[in-house]
Amino acid sequence: MSLRFNVINEAIKRKAVAVNVPNGRPADYFGECVFNNEKMLKYLPKKYYDALLDTMRNGTPLNLETADIVAAGMRKWATDMGVTHYTHWFQPLTGGTAEKHDSFIDPDNKGGVIEEFSGKLLIQQEPDASSFPSGGIRNTFEARGYSAWDPTSPAFIVDDTLCIPTIFISYTGEMLDYKAPLLKALGAVNRAATEVCKYFDPNVSKVFSYLGWEQEYFLVDEALWAIRPDLVLSGRTLMGHESAKNQQLEDHYFGSIPTRVVAFMKDLEYEALKLGIPVKTRHNEVAPNQFELAPVYEEVNLANDHNVLLMSIMKKVARRHYFRVLLHEKPFKGINGSGKHNNWSLGTDTGVNLLSPGKTSDEKLRFITFLVNVMKAVWKHNGLLKASISSATNAHRLGANEAPPAIISIFLGSQITEVLKNIEKGDGTIKMDGKQSLKFDIAHIPELLIDNTDRNRTSPFAFTGNRFEFRAVGSSANCAGAMIALNTAVAEQLIDFKKEVDSKIAAGTGVEDAIMQTVKQIVTEAKAINFESNGYSDEWKVEAQKRGLDCETSVPLIFDRLLAEDTVKMYTGTNVMTEKELHARAEVELETYIKKIQIEARVLGDMALNHIIPVASRYQEMLLNKIEKFNNLFKGEKLERIAKSDVDIVEEIAEHIIIIREQVAKMIEERKTANKIENSREKAIAYHDKVAALFDEIRYHIDKLEFTVDNEMWPLPKYRELLFIR
Ligand code: ADP
Ligand code: MG
Repeated sequence: MSLRFNVINEAIKRKAVAVNVPNGRPADYFGECVFNNEKMLKYLPKKYYDALLDTMRNGTPLNLETADIVAAGMRKWATDMGVTHYTHWFQPLTGGTAEKHDSFIDPDNKGGVIEEFSGKLLIQQEPDASSFPSGGIRNTFEARGYSAWDPTSPAFIVDDTLCIPTIFISYTGEMLDYKAPLLKALGAVNRAATEVCKYFDPNVSKVFSYLGWEQEYFLVDEALWAIRPDLVLSGRTLMGHESAKNQQLEDHYFGSIPTRVVAFMKDLEYEALKLGIPVKTRHNEVAPNQFELAPVYEEVNLANDHNVLLMSIMKKVARRHYFRVLLHEKPFKGINGSGKHNNWSLGTDTGVNLLSPGKTSDEKLRFITFLVNVMKAVWKHNGLLKASISSATNAHRLGANEAPPAIISIFLGSQITEVLKNIEKGDGTIKMDGKQSLKFDIAHIPELLIDNTDRNRTSPFAFTGNRFEFRAVGSSANCAGAMIALNTAVAEQLIDFKKEVDSKIAAGTGVEDAIMQTVKQIVTEAKAINFESNGYSDEWKVEAQKRGLDCETSVPLIFDRLLAEDTVKMYTGTNVMTEKELHARAEVELETYIKKIQIEARVLGDMALNHIIPVASRYQEMLLNKIEKFNNLFKGEKLERIAKSDVDIVEEIAEHIIIIREQVAKMIEERKTANKIENSREKAIAYHDKVAALFDEIRYHIDKLEFTVDNEMWPLPKYRELLFIR
C-alpha cells in the first residue's frame, strides 16, 4: 500500500484527544499566567506598585530602584509558578516571535548558585541578533541589538519561562521590530485625536486605539500534512486537483464543529485564557476544515501581543491534537483563503467610542468628524494601506474567492452615505433649532445603524456601526503592519484637520461651523474612497482606476508605496519612523518576498521532478505493458479499437510531462537570472514577473496528471483528503 494510504488510515482512525481544561469557570483561571494587577499588588510593595502603574498608564519613566523591586517581585511570582527561565520576548520583522531563554540561576562564586533577576535584566538586554532581518541597518559585525521592556504589556508565563514583552532596536537606535513603531504610531494618534476631542470635551486627556482581531485558520491532520512537502515548507499546497465537493454547498460555515476540532479549540481557549487573552468566539468558516477564533477587543498594543502569542500557542496545541494549523492566507486553490479582520476604533479616557454615532447633536458632530477624518486618511494613503497588508502569501487571497480585492475602498452603509451626501450639498453651516441646541443636517443619524447587519462583505475596509473593519489583513500577518500604517495615517490627518479648523476659528468662524466646513471639505475631497457596491466585480476595477485609487496588483510594485514621498512625509512628520527605518523595512519586505517565492519555486520544482513525473511515468509504463500485450493478442482494426484509449492516455501523460519538464527548466533558469540581480526591488520584480509567473502553468499540468494517474499510485494526499478528514 502506498504511503498516502497508510497515512490516510492513520488519520481517519484518530479520535478526539481528551482535553485538560479544569472544571470551573473561565474566570477562575483567566490571567493565571499573567503578571497582572492582582499579582502586582500581591508581589510588590504598594509604593512600587503605584510607580509601576504610573509607568504603565502614563508612560512615566521607571527608575532603576523601582525596576529592581519589580524584577524581584516578578521573579518571586514566576518561581512560585514553577518557572526557571526568563526571556525578552519580541517581534522581529521575520514575523512570529523571538525569544532566547536564560535561566534565573547564576553562580554565586562559592561553588553554588543564586537565583537572580535584576531590574537591569528586566529593562534591557543585548541579544546577539545578527540573524534577524534589519534591511541592511545592522551589519553583522555590529550584531548587537537591544531589547527593551514594554511595561504597557504585562509579562506572562509560557511553560517554564517568564516572557517579558520587549521592543527590539539596533545598536544605533533604529527600530527593528513591529512593536516599537506600533507604540509610536499609537502615541501619535493619541496626541492628535486628543487635541481634536478637546473641541467637544476639554476633559479628554487620552485617546486609545482599539483592536479586535478575528483569526481564521485551517486545520489539517498531521500525518497528511507530513507527506506534503509543499505544506511543510511553504505553508500552502502548490498543486492539487480541485475536490469534487468543496465549499459549494455552504454546509461548513457555522455548521457543527467536528469533535476533534472542538477538543482542539477547548484546549486552545484554555491556554489563551490563562494568558489573559479574552477569547470569545469560535466557529467553522466557509471552507471545509477552516475555522475562526476571535477575542474581545483590547487596546491595540496588547491585542496585537495577544494575537502574536495566540498564533504561536495555536501551533503547539494543534500538535497535541495531531493537527497542523495552517495560518497561510491561501493554503488551497479554489476555496476561501484566511484573513484576519482587524476591527479598529478610537476611544477616550472618558469612556467615549469616537466612532459611535451618539445621541446628541454634539456627539453626532464628533462622530462625523472622526469618521470623515478616517475616510480621508484611508483615501490619501490607500496605496500604503494596501502595501501594509501585502505579502507573497496574502497576494493569493486578495482578489480571489470571497476575499477583498487588491484595491482599498471604504464601505459606509446607506445611512452614512446619505448623511455625507447631505453634508456635501449643504452650506457647511450649523443651524440652530428653537431650543438653541445644535441641529444640523447630520442630526438624523440614528443611534443604531440598521444596515450594519447586511454589511457589505466585499469591502476591504468597512464601517460596522461603531468601528471600522480592515478585512484585507492576512491571517499569518502581524497586525502591527496594518495598525502602524492606519493609526499613523489617521494621526497625520487629525493634525491637518485641527490646523484647518483652528485657522478658520482664528479668522472669526465659530467652532462648530469651522468643524462643519472642514468636514464638508473633506467629504468632497475624499469621497472617491467610498464604494458601496460589489468589490468583487470587474466594473469596480475599472471604476477604481478612474477614481485614482491604487489598483496595482504586483506585490513588489505595491511595495513602492512604502517609500513614496507622501509615506515618508507621513511617518517622519508624525515622528513614527525615520527615513532610514522606512528604507530598512521596505528592504526587509522585498527580501522576504523574494525568499518566499524562491522557496516555493524550489519546492515546486522538486515535487514536479521527483514526486510527480516518476509516478506518472510508472503509470504510463503500466499502460505501455498492457498495450504491448494487446499487440500480441489482437490485430488490425480490432487492435486499434481496443488499445486506443490507453494509447491516448500514454500520449496525454507524455505531453504533460514534456511541458512540466520544460517549464521547470525555464523556472530554474529564471531563478538563476533573478539571483544575479543586486537591487532588491528589481530582483523581487523578476521573481514576481518571471519566476512566480510560471507556477500556474506547471501546476495546471500536474493537476491534470493527478486526474489521470491511477489513484492508488498518487503519492500526495489529495484535496478531498486534506479538507475532509478531521
Ligand atoms: P463579526 O460579525 O465580524 O465576526 P464580531 O461581532 O464577532 O464580528 O466582532 C469582531 C471583533 O470586533 C471582536 O473582536 C469584537 O470584540 C470587536 N469589536 C467590537 N466592538 C469594537 C470596537 N468598538 N473597536 C474595536 N473592536 C471592536
Ligand atoms: Mg468580522
